[in-house]
Amino acid sequence: MIPIDLKGKVALITGVGDNVGFAWHIAKTLQAAGATLFFAVHPRLVGIVESIMERDTDAESRILPYAQGNMKIEKILPCDVSFDTMDDVDEKTKNDKRYAKHGDFSIKGMIDTLSQQVKSVDILIHAVAFSPEIKNSAVNTSRAAYLTALSVSAYSLTALSRAALPLMENKPGGTSVVGLSYIGGERVVPHYGGGMSTAKSALQIDAKQLASNLGPKGIRVNIISAGPYASRAAKAIGDIGQMIDHATSRSPLPRPIEADEVGNATAFLCSPLASAITGQVLYVDCGYNVMGV
Ligand code: NAD
Repeated sequence: MIPIDLKGKVALITGVGDNVGFAWHIAKTLQAAGATLFFAVHPRLVGIVESIMERDTDAESRILPYAQGNMKIEKILPCDVSFDTMDDVDEKTKNDKRYAKHGDFSIKGMIDTLSQQVKSVDILIHAVAFSPEIKNSAVNTSRAAYLTALSVSAYSLTALSRAALPLMENKPGGTSVVGLSYIGGERVVPHYGGGMSTAKSALQIDAKQLASNLGPKGIRVNIISAGPYASRAAKAIGDIGQMIDHATSRSPLPRPIEADEVGNATAFLCSPLASAITGQVLYVDCGYNVMGV
């Protein structure tokens, strides 16, 4: 047996907002392999994630796969990935009590807090995406929404990687960044507007640029392009059920993907088994991407 052993590794996971999305399942698989978890959570969702970690009604969702006990996290760090530092925060957001109570919720603030607790980050997961006009077709997307989609969903990979660099560079055995994309960044998927298709396209080439920039420092950067899955963000797109049915009917493996399959692929990419893999887009989509019709 070749085990995936991430004992002693620290994973910083963005994009946990509930116990349904990909980030939650990635966290569970990484911890089942031994990793210690830190969550960087949108400031407005910190309370929700805290209660999911404690509530009896959510106990089942905290059970780790492979009979590895229950999920435990070291800390929830508030972070809005729109902001590199607090100097970038607009007055409206600064004065919003739901943000203000967290103090410094910028990427820098989050990494500074983390740096007080750990000497290294071995795994950085980027599972963040947002467009204020996700329901708009590309032609009806405003400039402002387009730029927000790019900032939150794509540039944040670069910003987080740069901020985490001092904790990730030149570590024995190397470190690993994994982001999440969707086929809508490469081909036209009706409903996937609001700048999100552009953001996924940008995310994929950014990951390749970052792989090249950071490879000499021992940091691998890869993307998982996941099949459609009914997360909270995906439900906001519109008819996610129809998208899942369509992919299921045309995929070589004729079924929907499971979120823990994205978790498993992430654990592989973050493990020594993937030590020569960087700058890649790995499709976890039941093979849908290879089909012509
Ligand atoms: P999700 O709703 O669980 O996750 C999206 C997360 O982004 C949320 O937790 C939200 O809080 C966070 N977020 C949004 N704006 C933020 C900001 N400014 N700062 C910090 N956090 C912010 O949905 P998901 O589908 O699990 O999405 C995770 C990733 O997977 C995304 O990149 C998404 O595009 C990608 N993906 C999803 C699908 C799908 O069908 N669900 C398919 C392929 C790829």
